[in-house]
This record gives sequence, structure tokens and C-alpha cells, in this order.
Amino acid sequence: MGKFATGVTVVTTEFQGEVKGMTANAFMSVSLDPKLVVVSIGHKARMHDIVKQTGKFAVNILRRDQEELSRLFAGQLKEERPVSFEWVNGHPLLAEALANILCNVHSAHVAGDHTLYFGEVTDIIMKDEPGDPLLFFEGQYRSIGQ
Ligand code: FAD
Ligand code: NAD
Repeated sequence: MGKFATGVTVVTTEFQGEVKGMTANAFMSVSLDPKLVVVSIGHKARMHDIVKQTGKFAVNILRRDQEELSRLFAGQLKEERPVSFEWVNGHPLLAEALANILCNVHSAHVAGDHTLYFGEVTDIIMKDEPGDPLLFFEGQYRSIGQ
């Protein structure tokens, strides 16, 4: 699977007054009518049960310069650090992301050691300023043209 190049997202949601985020590259577009996306979340991830309970999540598509946020939300940084979120319609968002896709959980499908959470898209926020995406390939972060 390392041969399949992807973008990188951080899935965010709010639960009991706290913001929770998790890095995920198992994300894709599913349907246009209705607008559905899917994210695959491992059963060992804390995010798994949190999304089940909140019934909503946002997908923040990372920019090339947000590699550190990807590592942070994958639990790969030695030190935790505070992150500021922008709130839109009850969703905590990473304001600097290339795009934010806001969803209500449409359905969930257990598949082995992951659950596919289908999200019905309620809002999409895209920034006007151009930016390159952060990529993930062969276990490493890359950028377009590299
Ligand atoms: P936790 O360990 O609870 O949190 C992860 C980290 O996020 C913690 O270190 C915490 O400091 C930080 N964090 C959380 N909320 C906040 C906040 N509000 N402010 C500041 N920091 C916060 N796993 C999947 O299941 N599906 C995938 O598609 C997937 N794709 C991945 C892609 C990449 C490129 C990488 C590197 C990892 C991927 N993972 C994926 C693994 C997943 O990101 C980690 O296993 C993750 O740590 C598990 O999530 P958790 O909910 O248990 O996180
Ligand atoms: P890697 O080179 O091992 O990953 C390559 C690809 O394999 C990933 O893009 C993903 O498609 C797949 N993959 C890896 N671990 C997986 C898992 N546990 N379940 C399902 N698919 C998986 O990348 P890496 O640098 O070793 O990854 C860093 C960490 O993030 C590892 O702990 C890895 O397990 C985790 N991760 C999990 C997923 C996922 O759960 N879907 C995806 C990517 C990375």
C-alpha cells in the first residue's frame, strides 16, 4: 500500500467540550448525490469510538507545509503542542488547511480491524489562495514535483 500515493488529512471532531484530531490518509470521495465521503479509522484509535459517539467529523486536507501537524495528530511528536482551531457550524477546523470538508456520519461499516465511516457532506470550505498538498508515498512525506 506504500506504493499508492495519497494526500494527507486530519480528521477532527468535538467531544464533551474537547477537540480531537487524527491523521488519516485512508480517505476518498464516494458519491455526488448525495455528497458522500469515506474515512477508514482503525479500531485501536481513540478517534474510532469518538466519531461513533459524536456522529460528525470534518476532514482537513493538509498543505505541503503542514507536515508537523500530520505528525502531531499521528502521535509521532515527542511533545504535545497546542493547536488553535477555527469553529464553523459546530466543527473544529484547521484554518490553514487546503480545504475543510464538514460531515455528519451517514453510515458506518466495520471492515476487519477498521471501520469505514461514510460522511454526508454538509459544508465545504476552500481557500482562495493557492497551495500545494502534503503527499504521503512509501512511508514518507513528499510534495508535487519532488
Ligand atoms: P491519539 O493518540 O489520541 O491522538 C493522536 C495525537 O493527536 C496525540 O499525540 C495528540 O497529541 C494529538 N491531538 C489530538 N487532539 C489534539 C488537540 N485538540 N490539540 C493538539 N493535539 C491533539 N490511522 C487510521 O486509522 N486511518 C488512517 O487513514 C490513517 N492514516 C494515517 C496516515 C499517516 C500519514 C499517518 C502518519 C498515520 C495514519 N494513521 C491512520 C494512524 C493514526 O494517525 C494514529 O494511529 C493515531 O495516533 C491514532 O489516533 P488516536 O485517535 O488513537 O490518536
Ligand atoms: P507505511 O509505509 O507502513 O504505510 C503505507 C500504507 O500502508 C499507508 O498509506 C496505508 O495505506 C497502509 N497502512 C499502513 N498501516 C496501516 C494500518 N495499520 N491499517 C491499514 N492500512 C495501513 O507508513 P508508516 O510510515 O509506517 O505509517 C505510520 C503509522 O501510521 C503506522 O503506525 C501505520 O500503521 C499508521 N497508518 C495507518 C493507516 C491506516 O490505519 N489506514 C494508514 C497509514 C498509516
